[in-house]
Amino acid sequence: MGILGSEWKSLRGNARQRVRVRVRVPRAHSKLATCLFLGLLLLLIPDASAQRTSLKPGWNKFSPQEDITLGKRAATDAEKQLPLCNAPKVDAYLTQLGTRLAQKLPTGGVQYPFEFHCVNDKAINAFALPGGYVFINRGGIEASDNEAQLAAVMAHELSHVALRHGTNQATKAMLAETGLGIFGAVFGDSTGGALLTTLGNFTAGGVLLRYSRTAESQADVMGTQVLYDTGYDPRAMAQFFEKLQAETKGKNPPEFFSDHPNPEHRVGRVDDEVERLGGAPANARRDSAEFEAIKREVLALPVVKKPTPGAAGAVAAPAAPSRKFAEYQGNSYTLKYPDNWKKYPDSDGGGVSFAPEGGVLDDGSGHSALAYGLIIGVAQAKGDPNDGGALSNATSQVIQDLQKSNPSMKITRQGERLRLNGQPGLSTYLSNVSPAGGQETDWVISVLRPEGLVYFICVAPQSAYDSYDKTFSSILDSVRFAK
Ligand SMILES: [Zn+2]
Repeated sequence: MGILGSEWKSLRGNARQRVRVRVRVPRAHSKLATCLFLGLLLLLIPDASAQRTSLKPGWNKFSPQEDITLGKRAATDAEKQLPLCNAPKVDAYLTQLGTRLAQKLPTGGVQYPFEFHCVNDKAINAFALPGGYVFINRGGIEASDNEAQLAAVMAHELSHVALRHGTNQATKAMLAETGLGIFGAVFGDSTGGALLTTLGNFTAGGVLLRYSRTAESQADVMGTQVLYDTGYDPRAMAQFFEKLQAETKGKNPPEFFSDHPNPEHRVGRVDDEVERLGGAPANARRDSAEFEAIKREVLALPVVKKPTPGAAGAVAAPAAPSRKFAEYQGNSYTLKYPDNWKKYPDSDGGGVSFAPEGGVLDDGSGHSALAYGLIIGVAQAKGDPNDGGALSNATSQVIQDLQKSNPSMKITRQGERLRLNGQPGLSTYLSNVSPAGGQETDWVISVLRPEGLVYFICVAPQSAYDSYDKTFSSILDSVRFAK
């Protein structure tokens, strides 16, 4: 401590000396400098933008180009999975409003291919995928009192894109994974590999859209700036979210808050930013006749019933697995799977999922989840394949990783040894909430291989598991590891 203290003092001493040297400039120059300085001050003071909160994206393992690649894949999938409004006028309006907002969005020079889609879902929600793919539920439009409030929701979503919160979140999640196993499987080789289409509740979609309260607050602040710069009343940002919260107190909170957790002091923080911006502009835009017309059109759209998780029979079960099998060639193994199932390989070939038509469902929050089928992944792990302890440890790690993103997942049976193509393996049974309603059974078989821990997750709703058991066994029996 003492040494540090004296070092600090001597450094400060040096700094002072340096300053003194700089001050010794000819008088005339110093006057000129003062004038220039005052001139700058005068220029700066009326420009309140100098005081706005400066926000930059956090550390990110992905490049902005990868944001676009990942987002595009996820958006293509989302468009297939979600009931879209199919109302060209509404989409055109959202695109026009969103583009106006995006033009004021500080993206650090990155050109994102912004897209705006209306989703025919009454739940009050909106989400933006990395790269600028924005989806707004009709419920979000219907709940907006005026155009400024809808613009606020959109500016908030766009700020998540500019601040790259999705891949920042994924980066943090990858760091938290000791082996990168699950994310290796989900993101492929992490250069924008396979994404979203498959894996259960731990889809990349879930990871990309799980924001922290800090990220929420940042999106509020940047969104407020965007609103201000586009000429909207920037206070609409906090007002809309506060209204939602007040209206739903004690009842089911709107879906929006499960994807965008409410930060503390939301209104206060936004009001503070409005003050930094120099107050709400006197002629700030609040509403438009166009918005009112679009809102009427949205209210008149047919309601699409979405399957409610837990409701029996809400989702039509997929066709039974075919008895004919197709061959799959992985990097380090081959297997056979029912030929009426689709395969969803990761780009690096390390991970792959197989599911029947209708086996991948919306988990109720806009994320796709595998309800019926098989997920295969490779997690980083080292150890002698015959060392039971190493196999147990690596398997526990993978299951803990799964549980992180599947909070309802529980181990129901574990520690049973078996052999898979002659290799020592471990069998673990898990239960989880099924996206098809009720509970599901997840049977995990793991084998230590030179390339890591290879794990097979057989997934089916509990009520239907028995009819899939035989198919899962046939698939596992067909596994052949490379010698
Ligand atoms: Zn948010």
